[in-house]
Amino acid sequence: IMTVDALAEKIRKIPNWPQDGILFHDITPVLQSPEYFRLLVDLLTYRYMGQQIDAVAGLDARGFIIGAALAYQLNVGFVPIRKKGKLPYETISQSYALEYGEATVEIHKDAIKTGARVLLVDDLVATGGTMLAGVELIRRLGGNVVEACAILEFTDLSGAQKIRDNHVPLFTLLQNE
Ligand code: 5GP
Repeated sequence: IMTVDALAEKIRKIPNWPQDGILFHDITPVLQSPEYFRLLVDLLTYRYMGQQIDAVAGLDARGFIIGAALAYQLNVGFVPIRKKGKLPYETISQSYALEYGEATVEIHKDAIKTGARVLLVDDLVATGGTMLAGVELIRRLGGNVVEACAILEFTDLSGAQKIRDNHVPLFTLLQNE
């Protein structure tokens, strides 16, 4: 049967990838399954279909897959937040700390209307740095982040708390201790 517990089992764990000591959670088996991909998109659609949302923003790259499907279902546009150097038009950028070094994400300057209510989507929240950088970009363009959502959060890292501390509710379908 199609349950959230079964969805959890569809996430494949890859030890020592992309680096030693990292247990990577691979969501591609969820996407490859017609049933589970639909369950994923439907669960998120039901959560947000009654709410006032003007746009869905997705984080590079797995946030595009889930976010685009969700935007289509909610009848709103989709805004990609990309890694540095990929967007062709005028952008603003936001850098954030990684475990080693730094990363930068960008958004097109005209992607968010002032006052727009935006839903921010990614696949997974670890330290929360990526999601928060997305929040910052949307806010800098005058948008309001209604909620951040992801398939999975690692509760042992303080990512979810970091996002909530910035006054953005975080919704995740699965939590990993
Ligand atoms: P954070 O910025 O919260 O530390 O890391 C989350 C970002 O890194 C997300 O964009 C996510 O796609 C990616 N990420 C980090 N670890 C994993 C993982 O184990 N599995 C997947 N699918 N993505 C990860």
